[in-house]
Amino acid sequence: YGDKPDIIREKSAELYERAKNYFPGGVNSPVRAFKSVYGTPLFIEKGDGSRLWDADGNEFIDFCGSWGPLILGHNHPKIREKVIEVMQNGMSFGAPTALENELAELIIKNNKYIEKIRFTSSGTEAVMSAIRLARGVTKRDKIIKFEGCYHGHTDALLVKAGSGLVTFGETSSAGIPKAYADETIVVSLNDKEAVKAAFEQFKEQIACVIIEPVPANNGLLLQNQDFLEFLREICDQNCSLLIFDEVISGFRVGFEGAAGFYNIKPDIITYGKIIGGGLPVGAYGASNGIMSNISPEGGVYQAGTLSGNPVAMAAGIAQLTELLKSGFYKEMNQKTLEFTDSIQRYATSKSYKFKVFQIGSIFWFAFTEKEKIQTSEDIDASSMEKFKMMHRELLNRGIYLGPSGYEVGFVSAAHSKIDLEKAKRAIFESLDIVFKN
Ligand code: PMP
Repeated sequence: YGDKPDIIREKSAELYERAKNYFPGGVNSPVRAFKSVYGTPLFIEKGDGSRLWDADGNEFIDFCGSWGPLILGHNHPKIREKVIEVMQNGMSFGAPTALENELAELIIKNNKYIEKIRFTSSGTEAVMSAIRLARGVTKRDKIIKFEGCYHGHTDALLVKAGSGLVTFGETSSAGIPKAYADETIVVSLNDKEAVKAAFEQFKEQIACVIIEPVPANNGLLLQNQDFLEFLREICDQNCSLLIFDEVISGFRVGFEGAAGFYNIKPDIITYGKIIGGGLPVGAYGASNGIMSNISPEGGVYQAGTLSGNPVAMAAGIAQLTELLKSGFYKEMNQKTLEFTDSIQRYATSKSYKFKVFQIGSIFWFAFTEKEKIQTSEDIDASSMEKFKMMHRELLNRGIYLGPSGYEVGFVSAAHSKIDLEKAKRAIFESLDIVFKN
């Protein structure tokens, strides 16, 4: 249906065939298999600044950014140099290093929402530990999560809503004991009544409420400020803890993340992605009092062979140092807003049923007429066919988006005006094709 030839994927296809011998589905993380978009997955060979190159030599302007960590773009010289410098002294010691102090200081001194932090190796681990901490502190078992928020692949959180206002979750993966899902109550986003009902039904049993304050794993389901404030209040009233999972929003919508953006103090915050500068890092933080429950100070056990790994710390230090430069977020956010506004104006001028949602340097393309999409039920699954078409047209025009219509896009500091102009033109042309078909 397109007017451009498909990109060549010969080498990628060959690599994918080989990968299928080694990995389930040929990949090490499911979305990479391109199951919801056209064609064979692209095997990436190189990234530099705003650009990506695949194994066949196709060049793309990248808006996936490794799913969020690369806020400065690919292979930023400051990060690369710092990593190489630190690596000269060895890769891992399993013992404390000064680098951990340095990254923790950068985070804590510039973030009024946490006083102590613990580094992990992934976002999943950070969230898993934060939940354990909340349960340890409150001595309660049940947790509330929201349908459409993703918090990594721990058992307690791979749980989706059942039917009804307040439900025990149903596991959303095989291999999770039902008993785990029974401790997780799943409610809709933006639904105060459901949250109230859950607290009433399970009085003094709720350890915590966990939310992505900027839900960005199932579209971009921007919540109202007052809903987040309501969660803060109801947690206080019930002596439950509020956890903000800021693995995506942390250091993305501002240095202080969504907590700073909305000016709401959660009890525990989880981070990942950006704090590792592209290397594997997660973290969770809270007040001194709450964090004192973590082993070896307290009784909540949590550990990691590669936690606080010096090379990963080095990357994080280099990246966060850049983010702290004056005007960084203002410029990023302004640049993104101009980009998304002009896409929206184009779509509206053509009466396309298409909406761009945006916060900070995060954006999401939705094929919808709705002015707001705040719950996963509001997403029209059938519109994903249109995304699939758009994704193919964009690849053919040198633009790389994450391979699913439920994923958000990220603008990085490396995207130049020219990159964004080029991307806009490609997006306009792709929209024209999608809406002609
Ligand atoms: N929480 C959120 C909000 C996330 O977006 C993710 C990853 N996309 C995770 C947790 C899990 O992080 P990781 O993939 O590093 O385990």
